[in-house]
Amino acid sequence: MPSSDRYSGPSRSVERRKAMIHSLCETCALMREVITPKGSRFLLCQLSQSNADYPKYPPQPVARCGGYQKKEQTGGVVER
Ligand code: SF4
Repeated sequence: MPSSDRYSGPSRSVERRKAMIHSLCETCALMREVITPKGSRFLLCQLSQSNADYPKYPPQPVARCGGYQKKEQTGGVVER
């Protein structure tokens, strides 16, 4: 069987790649997660409140950002 039978096409491949790109906002101390009543999730950039160069809801994923500040590690969940 030729391997091209399993080829899913370029558009699906690009979608998958985009979904796998990790956004810097996810680990940024300046990001606030907003969940709507319908369950949609948006990442709000709090730097936008003091710097007009940063959009309130930056298009995702963000690969590079001059305002990025790494979130402090919380240490995870501790079970007793
Ligand atoms: S400062 Fe940059 S990385 Fe942080 S939340 Fe805003 S856009 Fe995302």
